[in-house]
Amino acid sequence: MKDNYDVIIVGAGPGGSVTARHTAEAGLKVLLLEKRQEIGTPKRCGEGIGYAVLDRLGYKRDERFVCHHIDGGIMYAPSGKALEIPGGDGGAVIERKVFDKFLAYDAAKAGAEIQVKTEVTGLLRDNEGKIAGVDAVYEGKKYQIRAKIVVASDGIESKIGRMAGLKYSNDLVSVVSGYQYEMANIDIENPNKLYFYIGRKIAPRGYIWIFPKGLHVANVGIGIGGSHEKTAKQYLDKWIENTDSVKKGAIIEENAGAIPIGNFLEKMTLDNFLAVGDAAHQVNPVHGGGLAEATYAGVLAAKAIVDAIKAGDTSAEGLNEYNVLWWNERGNQLRRVEKVVKAYENMSDEALDLISNAITGNDVVDLSDGRSAKLMKIILKNPRLLGLAKYLK
Ligand SMILES: Cc1cc2nc3c(=O)[nH]c(=O)nc-3n(C[C@H](O)[C@H](O)[C@H](O)COP(=O)(O)OP(=O)(O)OC[C@H]3O[C@@H](n4cnc5c(N)ncnc54)[C@H](O)[C@@H]3O)c2cc1C
Repeated sequence: MKDNYDVIIVGAGPGGSVTARHTAEAGLKVLLLEKRQEIGTPKRCGEGIGYAVLDRLGYKRDERFVCHHIDGGIMYAPSGKALEIPGGDGGAVIERKVFDKFLAYDAAKAGAEIQVKTEVTGLLRDNEGKIAGVDAVYEGKKYQIRAKIVVASDGIESKIGRMAGLKYSNDLVSVVSGYQYEMANIDIENPNKLYFYIGRKIAPRGYIWIFPKGLHVANVGIGIGGSHEKTAKQYLDKWIENTDSVKKGAIIEENAGAIPIGNFLEKMTLDNFLAVGDAAHQVNPVHGGGLAEATYAGVLAAKAIVDAIKAGDTSAEGLNEYNVLWWNERGNQLRRVEKVVKAYENMSDEALDLISNAITGNDVVDLSDGRSAKLMKIILKNPRLLGLAKYLK
């Protein structure tokens, strides 16, 4: 580890590693710091990913981290009605522990230095108070490392984003609590489908999922929004208790984690600083998937960093290209998705049943992409749903 870099990236999750790879490929001196002793472990993820994302990253569909191929999904409404969701280009349930390392291998291959077991504890500031590097601790020893730009890719907790002064909303409603078991010896109706179970009674303002990693192995998890009498784990345990095909299984891994939902940051840049991935709330709010968003944003962030360093202007203004690109390519669409989520969060089980009787699996895909015209039509036709219209405007 040297004491001066072009870019220091805090957190070697997917967002951080992709940013590191693309900045290093452009010839910048890059340091990627990760507080955990092993990249990718423990996972906090259902591990579902679309093939389009792997294609974009340049990975093959049978790479070592792909556990199981997926060709669509089934969504169960509270009434038990099943909606078959088309699979599009298909996808996979992956092994995050392997995937995250693949991303880090590629960053290293491009020339980035990587240092694990190194926690960033603070930000260095220059005489004008602008960010100039990081304080880090490795094996009890403190280091001060300088850089032209610091990237916060330290996940949802993002202490670094807060220290830097990014304007996060304090709205707890915009965070979903997740809990998940990886379970073996369960029965899965069709192991090539992802399963989603919705309903306020089983998973208020969220859903329960089964993401198969093999014929009888799956991530079985829950995300719930807001605060309730029971915890996410208690809701999940109750559902498993009532689901014979899953109840008989053995738990081989247990994870908890939060997922940012909406409340995107208008500006993800400050002088000499930007944020990527969960640290910038870049998650699709309808299903909580953040792998696609963190890796997409990593590429955009790297472009803006390289351009800013070339131009000799790493101020917030100099890095603004990142805000512009992200809002144009992802943010505006995700904001439309956020509206759908707001409507969903306010649906009773009765409303969910009424709506799921009137839509198809294709409509579910449209909704998860923020296209809500059909839902609006259904709402406007049904006096019992009218109260939901305001969320979609
Ligand atoms: C229960 C659950 C299920 C999910 N399921 C899916 C799914 O199926 N598909 C999907 O696409 N997304 C899913 N997600 C979301 C997905 O996991 C995240 O969006 C994704 O990991 C974000 O990547 P990231 O690089 O932004 O952050 P992270 O993957 O969180 O990486 C942040 C890294 O920063 C490190 N770090 C933190 N602080 C410091 C510090 N001070 N110094 C050094 N290192 C630091 C952390 O150790 C970590 O390695 C799920 C999330 C949860 C909680």
